[in-house]
Amino acid sequence: MVKKKLKNKKASPKKTKAVSKRDTLFAPWRLNYIKGARDGVKQDCVFCWAAQTGPSMETLLVHQGSQCSIILNKFPYNNGHLMVIPHRHTADFDGLTRDEFEEIHQLLKLAYQAIKRAYNPQGLNVGLNLGRVAGSGIDDHLHYHLVPRWGGDTNFMPVIAHTKIISESLDDTFEKIKKAIDEIRRN
Ligand SMILES: [Zn+2]
Repeated sequence: MVKKKLKNKKASPKKTKAVSKRDTLFAPWRLNYIKGARDGVKQDCVFCWAAQTGPSMETLLVHQGSQCSIILNKFPYNNGHLMVIPHRHTADFDGLTRDEFEEIHQLLKLAYQAIKRAYNPQGLNVGLNLGRVAGSGIDDHLHYHLVPRWGGDTNFMPVIAHTKIISESLDDTFEKIKKAIDEIRRN
């Protein structure tokens, strides 16, 4: 959609302004999202939107469970950086239900196995940043990070200080992780 807008802009900047505004107001994905919105979902939250819309390269959601999902980080700290989210819009770690807590851990294990299979890292950081001062970019919807690590990539402090050393595209990451998850689940 962004590409389309840029293209239009070149052809006719004046017209594009109106189209672009309408696009923002009437984007189909938004309508579906608003129609499908239910309790525990926040409009304009990218995790809520992904959980409602389902797995695709656009949402970056690579595996959908019943109450939680595995999603790619759009701004990865390393190749293969995944996250596990509850579908419910919450930042309250204390308030996770027993079922959510259990599924989060099942998906952390599945994500861990998929990263190992697809990337064979030497190590892995698994963690939760609660609150903006703790380094959370989206601090109102809880998300666990899984960051594959290799000797000499960076050390942990630059990782949490948002240093990035990325070499592959998100599409490639999506394909690799999806393939690995499919293989693991078949076995
Ligand atoms: Zn949310």
